[in-house]
Amino acid sequence: MSDITDTELRQRTQDLIDAVDPHAADQFTFRGAQYDAGLAMVHFPEGKGGLGLSRSKQGIIDEVLRDAKVPYHDLMINPIGIGMGAPVVLNHGTEEMHEKHLRKIFTGEDIWCQMFSEPTHGSDVAGIPSRGVRDGDEWIVNGQKVWTTLAHVSNYGMLLTRTNPDVPKHNGLSYFILDMKAPGVEVRPLYQITGEAEFNEVFLTDVRIPDDQRLSDEGDGWRVAITTLMNERVALGGGSGGKGGGPIRSLMNTWMKKKDDLDPATHQIMRDEVARLWSEAEILRLTNQRAKVMAKTGQAGPGGSVGKLMSAELNQRIFELALDLEGPDGMLHTSGYPMTRSDEAHNLGEISGQFLRSRANTIEGGTSAIMRNILGERVLGLPGDVRVDKGVNWSDIPK
Ligand SMILES: Cc1cc2nc3c(=O)[nH]c(=O)nc-3n(C[C@H](O)[C@H](O)[C@H](O)COP(=O)(O)OP(=O)(O)OC[C@H]3O[C@@H](n4cnc5c(N)ncnc54)[C@H](O)[C@@H]3O)c2cc1C
Repeated sequence: MSDITDTELRQRTQDLIDAVDPHAADQFTFRGAQYDAGLAMVHFPEGKGGLGLSRSKQGIIDEVLRDAKVPYHDLMINPIGIGMGAPVVLNHGTEEMHEKHLRKIFTGEDIWCQMFSEPTHGSDVAGIPSRGVRDGDEWIVNGQKVWTTLAHVSNYGMLLTRTNPDVPKHNGLSYFILDMKAPGVEVRPLYQITGEAEFNEVFLTDVRIPDDQRLSDEGDGWRVAITTLMNERVALGGGSGGKGGGPIRSLMNTWMKKKDDLDPATHQIMRDEVARLWSEAEILRLTNQRAKVMAKTGQAGPGGSVGKLMSAELNQRIFELALDLEGPDGMLHTSGYPMTRSDEAHNLGEISGQFLRSRANTIEGGTSAIMRNILGERVLGLPGDVRVDKGVNWSDIPK
């Protein structure tokens, strides 16, 4: 199948649109048909939502869907499930798990969340103290997760927890698919600077997880976590939805709206800055495209941190400039601080909202400092960070 041409791929996507009218069919029906046609995650194997092609070819499908104004092709339908859950299940799950989860992740019937961070451990997530103890064919898990995006609407969580404290920290973790409706799972909202509770804290009290919901071997959870994190960085750094799309489009819209009101000197300065950011957004888009072409296997690697680092810092500069262009209007946050729990990822209705939301970009999915460490060590081969707990059993690390 890997010899399929771009023209054929375009035609297959058009055939899908002709067969299942996206403006008449509901989200689950259309996306289910897209999955069955192998046009969901094109780098996945045949029969599992893909065609075994290079990841970069997904852009061709997305373009045809976008041009046809298909309302359901956006990753935001299930960002964590599609961006991270699906590759994790594919790479580390059983055939039964593939069958059960992949299609429903893509259609959005099942929403997924990522349960890694804990109050004491974010960047150093390998050191988490939550605890899973074996009880026959089940595990009993206790602990607290935090910053868990979309946990309040999720059916499944990707749970990393410590199952052996008496080995070095990376070797004592296991990874489970958690049923978010299981007894003992309590989700409480955490409100953000935007006035929405996009993420949550999640308390786990004697939660029982069947052992067959474990991904990979006992104690091998860190390897699965790495798959999750690398895919998270690709998802966060990757998408701008085409040339001139994404955050830079918001800036261009604001520029077009405000440019004639600026005095000549400010106009010159702002125009230079807008042009600079537009160029950087284009460099980011092309860099991501090149990375996808180079990732022939479809696997995310440490190079995904380039896009994540660049897009996080660029987004912040884009919305800082957009806010400046808005002038006094930029201080208005007309949607207010509703303190709602959005069932979407976030409310990006106005510049002030996007500006506030972009502050999180350099933290979520790993901070910019951590991205620089990964790039230095894993991509450039520079000497590693100081690690005083290396080789020390987790239970012996001073807490
Ligand atoms: C909007 C948003 C959504 C999120 N969603 C999720 C989610 O769904 N699931 C989930 O599990 N987590 C989620 N997170 C949590 C996120 O992954 C963590 O916040 C992040 O990894 C940083 O961890 P921390 O907050 O504990 O900060 P810390 O790790 O305490 O870091 C504090 C500061 O120290 C710096 N620092 C730490 N270690 C180093 C080092 N070795 N070298 C240099 N500097 C260092 C950091 O860069 C940072 O500036 C989300 C966060 C945000 C903001």
